[in-house]
Amino acid sequence: MRDETKCVLTPMVNEAGYKSLAPAVHRASTIVFEDAKAYATRSRRGPDGYSYGLYGTPTTRQLEAKLQALSGAARTMLVPSGQASNAVAALALLSAGDHVLITDNAYPAMRSLADDDLRRFGILVDYYDPTSLEDLRSRIRPETKLVWCESPGSTTLEVQDIPAIVAIAREAGAMVGCDNTWATSLAFKAHAFGVDIVSEALTKYASGHSDLLMGAMSFTDEGTALKVRAFMGRTGIGVSPDDAALVLRGMETMALRFAHAEAGAHRLTARLKAHPAVADIYWPPLEDSPGYDLWKRDFTGAAGVFTVVLAEGASSGLDDALGALKTFAIGASWGGTRSLVAPMSIGTARSATEVKGEDLFIRFSVGLEAIEELEADIDAFLACLK
Ligand SMILES: *Cc1c(COP(=O)(O)O)cnc(C)c1O
Repeated sequence: MRDETKCVLTPMVNEAGYKSLAPAVHRASTIVFEDAKAYATRSRRGPDGYSYGLYGTPTTRQLEAKLQALSGAARTMLVPSGQASNAVAALALLSAGDHVLITDNAYPAMRSLADDDLRRFGILVDYYDPTSLEDLRSRIRPETKLVWCESPGSTTLEVQDIPAIVAIAREAGAMVGCDNTWATSLAFKAHAFGVDIVSEALTKYASGHSDLLMGAMSFTDEGTALKVRAFMGRTGIGVSPDDAALVLRGMETMALRFAHAEAGAHRLTARLKAHPAVADIYWPPLEDSPGYDLWKRDFTGAAGVFTVVLAEGASSGLDDALGALKTFAIGASWGGTRSLVAPMSIGTARSATEVKGEDLFIRFSVGLEAIEELEADIDAFLACLK
């Protein structure tokens, strides 16, 4: 063999007796076939066979299998971000003339997708009050194909009555999708409550280290999943095996991190609640948080992500209060090792419900630092508020 060829070809080595606890990273665009017949008939390998890197490698399949087992889905598929998961579900399953009902507190990018793109494709878009079954019932119609939930929803964290919503949607012949990013499949088994499509941003708790973006879509029905998978092939949507390996690693500690964040959130919300500068805290395990009863009925845990509403007049000290934080970092997203805080506003992103009072919501996400240090931060934060 000539040197140029030796440089190109990688020798096979003996792998017998090698077994690692770490999943291997299988990178591929090309998959090679043993002979011409195998290549010619590659499409017969089916959705679980290998034919091209975009459609999966053993690394991405391992992550899909892990997520599928945790969620109880018939099939789970990876997409490049949490928002891609929401978007692909809608784009793959809705057609011109179909009607989609989206919860009013949906992740903001889901709302923009609906307003800017779904409408452009002739899909009829409407929003419903996340906590009112009557409102949902009044807006559902014969063309309604999909009812989109997010429970608890973005920013205001209202918990939805998923089994009741599923019953209403079924009666109308519509599918139900749910963004389950906050709870993950650890705390809410959405498929068991009747949800057809479960969307999750693995960017948050599953990856757990704030260093990548990925999403997962899980389906109760294999046929629907394969329809969406074919759409992903046509639109060229797939994920990097390196990122999938990082999520596989992150997930090994996910249950511990999730439980730690929940315990920390209990302590921090108690401290915040006792202070006069705090008017409200939205966090489903708190009895006066919207949907507490539903959370208690349907969920087995809580993410360490909660939203604080300040008392009237207190927000004038907010910039100083955020500046006083030593352990919390200021930034969006959540579910990583670092505790984060981000002031948010809803603006015009609600139409079926109203934002009462000042449009200022401070979202906290508890990470893995010592809770005493986070408590000291909260005290310093509160001391700056009027
Ligand atoms: C973060 C988030 C997303 C989007 O996830 P990305 O991976 O950042 O695109 C979607 N839904 C919810 C509820 C989220 O919190």
